[in-house]
Amino acid sequence: MSLVVENFLAVKAEVEAAAAAAGRDPGEVKLLVVSKTIPLPVIEELYACGVREFGENRISELAGKAAAMPGDVVWHFIGPVQSNKVRKIVQCADVIHSVDTVEKLERFDRIAGEEGKHPEILLEVNVSGEASKGGVAPAELPVLAAAAAGCAHLRCRGLMTMAPPAAEHDELMRIFSALRRLRDEVAAAGSRDWPVLSMGMSRDFPEAIDCGATIVRIGSRIFAGVPR
Ligand SMILES: *Cc1c(COP(=O)(O)O)cnc(C)c1O
Repeated sequence: MSLVVENFLAVKAEVEAAAAAAGRDPGEVKLLVVSKTIPLPVIEELYACGVREFGENRISELAGKAAAMPGDVVWHFIGPVQSNKVRKIVQCADVIHSVDTVEKLERFDRIAGEEGKHPEILLEVNVSGEASKGGVAPAELPVLAAAAAGCAHLRCRGLMTMAPPAAEHDELMRIFSALRRLRDEVAAAGSRDWPVLSMGMSRDFPEAIDCGATIVRIGSRIFAGVPR
């Protein structure tokens, strides 16, 4: 078995163990392989062992890989959104994790209508308040959620966040449980069906799963040491 497949299976087992330890059904937590910067032959090895969803943070890279891979791959766009790239994102991505302003929402909705698409979207929240980071402030989320509800061509499914890279266990638990609480509150207030919480990466997915993550986005743990 190749190293990348071994790594993938090891991480998958850890994700399942974290779900079980949290008293959750392991089937509730999706392991999204973040394949940014990873060349196609390595991605194809994962495809060959059944992986069908990949995350990318640059749209030009996602578009190139989507064109080269089989059509049954589900592509997740997880990077910062630039307004002039919205059409390309709508054309190539099935799930968009990083919508964080009303202006971008409206642009996605208009262009999705023009392209005849209905992408799934997640609203990115800056829970930790780091200045350098994308995401809507928690206090502004209700306004963004209301705007999303009015977007006929978008299917808003929940929330996404990133924890600070150096956060330790207690801070991670605070951030991830805050995202879950925000999801619960805003979904209940608007009677919204918001099942998705996209949170947790290579170094913090156990905490995220403990707090209710339904998608963990993992790259470096899977590709560590893999020749490229
Ligand atoms: C790169 C990236 C990930 C994966 O991070 P790793 O630490 O490599 O697992 C997850 N989410 C986003 C938004 C990313 O850009």
